[in-house]
Amino acid sequence: MKVVLLSYTKDAELLCATAAKTCYSQGSPSEIRGKVTNDKAGKLIEDVVGVGHHSVIEHAYYTFSLEGVSRALTHQLVRHRVASYSQQSQRYVNMLSAEYVIPKSVEADPEAVAIYRQAMEQAWESYQRLAERVPVEDARYVLPNACESNIMVTMNARELMHFFSLRCCERAQWEIREVAEEMLRLVREVSPQIFKDAGPSCVRGPCPEGKLSCGNPRRRARRPPEG
Ligand SMILES: Cc1cc2nc3c(=O)[nH]c(=O)nc-3n(C[C@H](O)[C@H](O)[C@H](O)COP(=O)(O)OP(=O)(O)OC[C@H]3O[C@@H](n4cnc5c(N)ncnc54)[C@H](O)[C@@H]3O)c2cc1C
Repeated sequence: MKVVLLSYTKDAELLCATAAKTCYSQGSPSEIRGKVTNDKAGKLIEDVVGVGHHSVIEHAYYTFSLEGVSRALTHQLVRHRVASYSQQSQRYVNMLSAEYVIPKSVEADPEAVAIYRQAMEQAWESYQRLAERVPVEDARYVLPNACESNIMVTMNARELMHFFSLRCCERAQWEIREVAEEMLRLVREVSPQIFKDAGPSCVRGPCPEGKLSCGNPRRRARRPPEG
């Protein structure tokens, strides 16, 4: 699995701070943009987002390439509707060789690895035989959830905060959690002030998972803005 931050709003924090200040100023956004500085941006964003005015961080966009992830993961990912996606097509791309994700629980058990590999080999053998007789868009029906895929996703900072709340949580499945944690690491490098409180809900307050809670809150001390 590989996660690459392909593109992002370069002046995201100044832009979101300009949006925040625009709401409470007589000046125009273009006038405010020239006056907002990096040291003021974090506090401006924090104050406005802190009172529930989350739309100001929708001005910042981040685009990722997720490579070699399973179709099980991409199915979970695309449930997040406030995002844009482009995924490698199994209708137009021939899945020539058996490329699939192996869960760590399977890897840890030699007997499970043997069962798993046999199922994958059988699926790909059937796929290849079918692909000689029918279009690959129909042959693909025999491919498993484990099948590797590449997907490009763009989210704004507000949706990313929501995505991290759900998918960095221990309740999320390991694969999407690993991807979400890597995405969070990458956006924190470029927009530390916007994402300083990002992560599972328990880093900001009580766990919302009720009886399903892991019981191990990752509460984090509030850090001063970096950079
Ligand atoms: C641990 C876990 C287990 C899950 N298990 C299942 C499962 O068993 N079965 C299953 O089907 N799904 C499951 N899901 C998926 C889950 O139900 C959501 O579809 C997914 O997490 C996307 O979240 P969302 O709808 O909040 O956010 P997004 O689609 O990312 O939307 C962000 C926010 O925008 C608002 N929004 C977006 N669209 C609408 C709309 N049409 N109407 C009103 N408000 C909207 C909501 O406030 C929403 O929270 C699971 C998710 C997690 C994290």
